[in-house]
Amino acid sequence: MAYLAIRGSGAVNGVSRLHGEVSRRLFEPLFPRWPADEVPVGHVTNGVHVPSWDSAAADDLWTETCGKDRWLGSTEYLERDIRRLSDARLWQLRTASTKSLVGYARGRLSRQLTASGAPPEAICEAEHLFDPNALTLGFARRFATYKRPNLLLHDPERLLRLLTDPQHPVQLILAGKAHPADQAGQALIQEWMHFIRQPAARPHVMFLSDYDVQLTEHLVQGVDVWLNTPRRPWEASGTSGMKVLVNGGVNLSELDGWWAEAYTPEVGWALGDGREHGDDPAWDAAEAVMLYERLESEVVPEFYARDEQGIPKAWVTRMRESMAQLTPRFSANRTVREYTEQRYLPASAAYRVRMANKCAIARQMVCWRQGLEEKWPTLHFGELKVETRGGHHVFEVELFLNDLDPEAVKVELYAEGGKDSAGQEMERDRTPTGDARGEIYRASVLVARPATDYTARVVPYFAGVAVPLEVNTILWQR
Ligand SMILES: *Cc1c(COP(=O)(O)O)cnc(C)c1O
Repeated sequence: MAYLAIRGSGAVNGVSRLHGEVSRRLFEPLFPRWPADEVPVGHVTNGVHVPSWDSAAADDLWTETCGKDRWLGSTEYLERDIRRLSDARLWQLRTASTKSLVGYARGRLSRQLTASGAPPEAICEAEHLFDPNALTLGFARRFATYKRPNLLLHDPERLLRLLTDPQHPVQLILAGKAHPADQAGQALIQEWMHFIRQPAARPHVMFLSDYDVQLTEHLVQGVDVWLNTPRRPWEASGTSGMKVLVNGGVNLSELDGWWAEAYTPEVGWALGDGREHGDDPAWDAAEAVMLYERLESEVVPEFYARDEQGIPKAWVTRMRESMAQLTPRFSANRTVREYTEQRYLPASAAYRVRMANKCAIARQMVCWRQGLEEKWPTLHFGELKVETRGGHHVFEVELFLNDLDPEAVKVELYAEGGKDSAGQEMERDRTPTGDARGEIYRASVLVARPATDYTARVVPYFAGVAVPLEVNTILWQR
């Protein structure tokens, strides 16, 4: 389906910077003989529709500082305005939000237990689980194996110790679904159920069923930390972590998808080393240990390090930076603007050019393509000659066009890697002399690397046509 879509599209992009890179690799076969970094796939990172995910309390706070129409026009002042919020005001939002989530989760769990025919004691117990003042972690997603929803369960005893620390308690809300036919996913949910059945774990962990948008809404409004542990580079973007930003939730996530470009030490916590390790169990184990260490020695201590007013200063500073820097950047405002400016407007203009005067340009394009298809197999280069003088390599190459209009192609000088990697256009010498039978092309570059690094190539050219997306032929001198 992706191949079909690409062949029918005027532009192609991934949904995060990393996904763009991964997709260029994936779709190389569609652009044979083109360098990997010229596979025509860019990226527009996803964003969320912020007004759909903010709580009433967060809406009040943002309205106080940024006004009611803050998501309707330019968002350029939001970062500055959010930075003005006091520690006390931000902390008030955080504490109220967690309190409200704990109330909701208790009610939802007790309804869930009632529906499943649980004994009255269990239902009553559900009404009192959790502590509105404890550090609250959220983990909710499809239980697909690449998301590694059991990474936290790698060492169940260590997790239990983390949750039940009497001075610094931690609670975890889980939600998720596995596809009914996905047995591995179902088994991951069972692993969590098994963990939660332990009496010591019960006051600290809830699994809420029927994960849907409404449940997400409550979770992203109330958690202190949102966890995401996918196996890099499988998370194309990930959007759930963006939904907590406006509400002052902070992300602890694998450096994958959006977080690979959003993360800096001021705005949250990262997991992994920014590289790919396949599904190596030893690496999963190492990342699980890294996750426990982050939580034990950074997240938990920072949350509980309070000043005289009971405010965790460092935590609130991190929360403010996350809200200020990331909320506008990962909002649909930015995403829609990028699609509009980089994709839709140029595509619309290109379409109008092609269609004008009863499709005059489009007709010329068809002739151009036919000419290329007919002549391309017979095109060939002569030798690439070089003379090095005056600090320059001066290249000259003969190209046999076999009556193809020289205007239908561009000849480029190319060297792999570095800044020179994209082709530099070679000039056609319009008065070929001597015994040349083809067209002569010349280019000169500063001597920065050996002349043998260079080669020449010929690519199709027609003003306004996206090469190689629309026409992917290429011929190399060697
Ligand atoms: C946001 C959302 C998702 C997507 O979350 P990811 O972290 O991107 O996988 C899936 N399901 C629901 C119900 C959501 O609200």
